[in-house]
Amino acid sequence: MTGWLAVVGLGPGQEDMVTPQVRAVLAEATDVIGYFPYVARVAPREGLTLHGSDNRVEIDRADHALRLASQGARVVIVSSGDPGVFAMASALFEALEAQPEHHGLDIRILPGITAMLAAAARAGAPLGHDFCAINLSDNLKPWDLVEHRLRLAAQADFAMGFYNPRSASRPHQFARVLEILRQECGPDRLIIFARAVSTPDERISTVTLDEATPEMADMRTVVLVGNSATRRVGRFVYTPRSVG
Ligand code: SAH
Repeated sequence: MTGWLAVVGLGPGQEDMVTPQVRAVLAEATDVIGYFPYVARVAPREGLTLHGSDNRVEIDRADHALRLASQGARVVIVSSGDPGVFAMASALFEALEAQPEHHGLDIRILPGITAMLAAAARAGAPLGHDFCAINLSDNLKPWDLVEHRLRLAAQADFAMGFYNPRSASRPHQFARVLEILRQECGPDRLIIFARAVSTPDERISTVTLDEATPEMADMRTVVLVGNSATRRVGRFVYTPRSVG
């Protein structure tokens, strides 16, 4: 049996936002590996072993997947959204870098709809001009760097998407993010809190920076901030395609 490994994105939550390509590899898989809540989104069936693991063990997961695939298993590593956006694809390559014996394996990365784009579509078109994505967690980088990038992105007038905005273990940091944004963008800039997009718990709210409070975000929220031209049109928010 020839093994292979696919690293896939399951999209933001809704079943019909899983791409047909991802569905197809899941149908052929012998093993699914990933963070518990993502593995739980894969239907159990005969011949499929589900390996759910805890958060923050990405390299162990990648090693496990490489080992199984090299032994002939058909392995799928699942991420939410897109696997290349603050997720498992980079972790897999980090593990692969240290294991040249696996460099010949059949490895595929299959994209998914990332939270930022699903949220933007719900709101209208807030990312219609240049934008950037920043992970606000300081698990894998120093907090100073988060602040630095945030400030420069705001000064460059990018629209922005923030992943992992706020968790119980670092409640004060998102308050600091809002403070920096108010300094750089002023009180009237639009900010969108998109929680649990495309799930039954979905909640989207658009306010100005002046009205925004840290409690509006949690770990199931992706936060979008417009650029200086972003505005409301009816119940939507959009960013014009041109400036100046
Ligand atoms: N790979 C994922 C991101 C993983 S980081 C992707 O491409 O979407 C986890 C963060 O993603 C969460 O803290 C939250 O900020 C965001 N996120 C994931 N799914 C979401 C959803 N359905 N609605 C809103 N934000 C979501």
